[in-house]
Amino acid sequence: MIKFGSEHGEVNTIYYITLDLEWNQAERRRTNTNIPFEIIEVGAVKLDESWNVVDHFSMLVKPRVYPHLFPKVLEIVNITENELHRKGKPFATVMKQFWDWCSATGDYLLCTWGTMDITELLRNINYYHLKCPLKHPVFYSDIQKIYSLQYSDGKKRCSLETAADELQLTETLQFHRAHADAYYTALVMQRLDRHLVDMYLSLDYFHLPANASEEVHMVFDTYSKYVSRVFPDKEAAFADKEVISCTCYLCNTPIKKTIPWFSYLGRYYYCGGKCPTHGWIRSKIRLKKADSDHHVYVVKTTKVVLQSDIDDILEKREEVREKRRKHLEALDPNTTPPAGKNNDTYK
Ligand SMILES: [Zn+2]
Repeated sequence: MIKFGSEHGEVNTIYYITLDLEWNQAERRRTNTNIPFEIIEVGAVKLDESWNVVDHFSMLVKPRVYPHLFPKVLEIVNITENELHRKGKPFATVMKQFWDWCSATGDYLLCTWGTMDITELLRNINYYHLKCPLKHPVFYSDIQKIYSLQYSDGKKRCSLETAADELQLTETLQFHRAHADAYYTALVMQRLDRHLVDMYLSLDYFHLPANASEEVHMVFDTYSKYVSRVFPDKEAAFADKEVISCTCYLCNTPIKKTIPWFSYLGRYYYCGGKCPTHGWIRSKIRLKKADSDHHVYVVKTTKVVLQSDIDDILEKREEVREKRRKHLEALDPNTTPPAGKNNDTYK
């Protein structure tokens, strides 16, 4: 799937960089929607190929959009306004030094605790129209997710402090400073299965695929994932062949849908069918709002599933139909919708 290396196919040394940001926000109703969270500190730890900590990065950013620290931020983050204005450098300067530091040793993969840091980093970069050396869309490792995959059910998300406690890490630094949190993220990472970190890369959705050639197709051990380009609306998305296709990711066979796409709870769409070689295949679409206007994009995951999973999907479909029947009956008791139809079915 995702390969790191130079354009000539030669794989350079990959460094892993755990990154943590602290940010500030506006007092009530004064938010600049282009930059709801202004980064005030960047902290990072560099690990070599064997995951030894080899370097640190720590810089404060002088705030420009929100000069006063939000009370809640003051409470959590251990930085004073005075310190920030005295020691902080302009965001552009901090980013320049950060990218130089990142790339000084070769290729690198950014690793964060959770999904917010990369998005807010890109949003801040975008706000100041700075150059970003990361290719879009940005792949990174969400260590919080990997921690859950290895130590929990893969779905729960715990705080960095909880993970540090559970792993009995010696906690000498105070949490909620960027350099400290980046360091703890590195320590947690050192206790993770490397295969999981390399395999389950996350994708940041701040810069969405602009056209079909930028769309993302990923194949993991147990599922595949597709991220579409941005569409003007839901109807346009569901008119797209790639969006509504269902393909077995193990053998690339197009699947004939015995369960055509249907919507569930307004946010999810399911379909299913059988691969002659690999059995039941289920695709699930999450329709997501793009940042601007009413534009949408699609995240589709496809999985080989068991008969019981297909039964679950059929149950969901029945639930949808039942709701619709009741709704129509309430409008006009004499109307019964034709069997097997609902408004949100797509072939
Ligand atoms: Zn197959």
